[in-house]
Amino acid sequence: MTESRLPWYGRGPSDEVPPVLERVLRRPSHDERAWQELWHLLATEGTSVSAASFAALPYLRDIVRAGETVAADRALELAGAIVAGVHQDHGADELIRTLARVIAELRRMVARRLTDSNLPPATAMALFRAHLAFARATVWSLAEYDFEDGFYRVECPHCRIGVTVAIGNYGRYSAQRDWDRGDIHRRPLTQADPGDLDGLAAWMHTTARHLGLTPLAEGLTWLFGRAECPACASSFVTGDQYATENEPHHSSDGPVPPGGW
Ligand SMILES: [Zn+2]
Repeated sequence: MTESRLPWYGRGPSDEVPPVLERVLRRPSHDERAWQELWHLLATEGTSVSAASFAALPYLRDIVRAGETVAADRALELAGAIVAGVHQDHGADELIRTLARVIAELRRMVARRLTDSNLPPATAMALFRAHLAFARATVWSLAEYDFEDGFYRVECPHCRIGVTVAIGNYGRYSAQRDWDRGDIHRRPLTQADPGDLDGLAAWMHTTARHLGLTPLAEGLTWLFGRAECPACASSFVTGDQYATENEPHHSSDGPVPPGGW
């Protein structure tokens, strides 16, 4: 196999990608270094993508199709990190439109994989994020999910003041952040009943629980529970408000993919 045989239409580090990709394609579960190089080239620092990254998606899809579990999980994880960068300034919008079917297939593949409740926690978390990326819920693919020391800064949808929502071991509250006095006018959060969650939040919670990601499932019931504005006392769902303010596609075509959750 020669480097020139791989059809390549990426930009950016396009000269460097095909040889590394070929190495991965040749021995998808055995070339640790090639995978590391591929991550470096296609999702630099785990997040920064270029047109070459998206051009690699059909090849990563083919690795998943080949069915070898370790390699398939790696390919899905890297593909998820790439697709999570869809809103970056990569100049690949045209290319990405041609990849809609590939991304839809990746989504079906990762959904199948997520039915396995015995995944190692790190793999489970990576594939959970990948599924969210393929389903266009970019903000949730990239969220920190730090429920030990987590803060979400949102606007009250009613009076528009900045509200700090804390979900951590030290407390779960909404507050106004004062640089001198810390979090003031604290109000306790109301935890959601998992049975009352719907749409994306329900999918996330059910999947997290199925995968044994217990702190994530628990944290989501606080994130998608209600917070009270310290200024005007109206209440809102923290996660919904956070997504509205941070999801680039939220207002145009929404985070719910065709076919729903
Ligand atoms: Zn308010």
